[in-house]
Amino acid sequence: MNSNLLADNPRPPVATRALRTKAELRAAVAAAKRAGQTVGLVPTMGYLHEGHLSLIRAARVECDLVVMSLFVNPTQFGEGEDLDRYPRDEERDLRLAGEAGADLVFAPTVEEVYPDGLDRFATYVEVTGSLTDVLDGDPSRRGPEHFRGVTTVVAKLFNLVDPDVAYFGQKDAQQAAAIRRMVRDLDFPVQIEVLPTVRELDGLAMSSRNAYLGPEDRERATALSRALTAAEHGARAGSLGMGLEAARRELTAAGIEPEYLEARDAETLERVHALEQRPVLVLVAAQVGAARLIDNALIQPTDINLQS
Ligand code: AMP
Repeated sequence: MNSNLLADNPRPPVATRALRTKAELRAAVAAAKRAGQTVGLVPTMGYLHEGHLSLIRAARVECDLVVMSLFVNPTQFGEGEDLDRYPRDEERDLRLAGEAGADLVFAPTVEEVYPDGLDRFATYVEVTGSLTDVLDGDPSRRGPEHFRGVTTVVAKLFNLVDPDVAYFGQKDAQQAAAIRRMVRDLDFPVQIEVLPTVRELDGLAMSSRNAYLGPEDRERATALSRALTAAEHGARAGSLGMGLEAARRELTAAGIEPEYLEARDAETLERVHALEQRPVLVLVAAQVGAARLIDNALIQPTDINLQS
């Protein structure tokens, strides 16, 4: 090839091609498996940020074939939620996913995932009970249907990809707990890895929905992570109750009334009132301007001053 041609057409930055169909996805994964490769799966709804990329990078280190899915899943959105305005930029996502180490991006249409239409889709995977009917699953909030949508689409992805490892973010702690439970209850042969929340420099947990924040609300939104830090400090230094009070003061000072601010067992999501030997999650959700934001802090037993 003429070298000028190369100079005129430099290879674009690593861009991953989008696979649109389940058949293409299955064929690509099957070829890798025949070659003895291990497969990692990173499910996302796109509009990628460093949180997503941290999952892809971890998969890149640990697996031979890294598959990212990019699908804004309608069955996990309730009526009146932001399905239609959820931010999207597929071209950028493909480039960033490729640069972070994804080999394949599965970016199907809604029709490909739900070919009989959403109204006629009939089989759901639902983790019932206290993992999914509290916090975001409370019927007054997103409701258990939200998690039913998540576990259903993740189960479909597991069936399509049959990954050795699947990667999720601690940012969505309740979602991660529900997926772990589904995998245990239904014997999915996949290892679940939950990786730490990636934050902006000022502490705000990265989220595709941060795009909804105007400058003033973006500033106010930092109160969520400050509240969680206050909760952690208060819990270590005094009591969980003091920590939660300190957290609430941070939110109030920023004019934020949380939908919930609660301490729960990190695995069962049962309410806890005192710090004992098990990891505790402090979880917060709040509407800040146009964005509904969630965040949480994981307090490990080793962090806890059990004397007090
Ligand atoms: P989403 O595209 O919002 O569905 O997120 C896809 C995956 O990325 C989920 O497992 C999320 O928990 C994870 N994730 C989202 N935000 C972050 C973050 N700030 N840090 C780490 N993981 C994240």
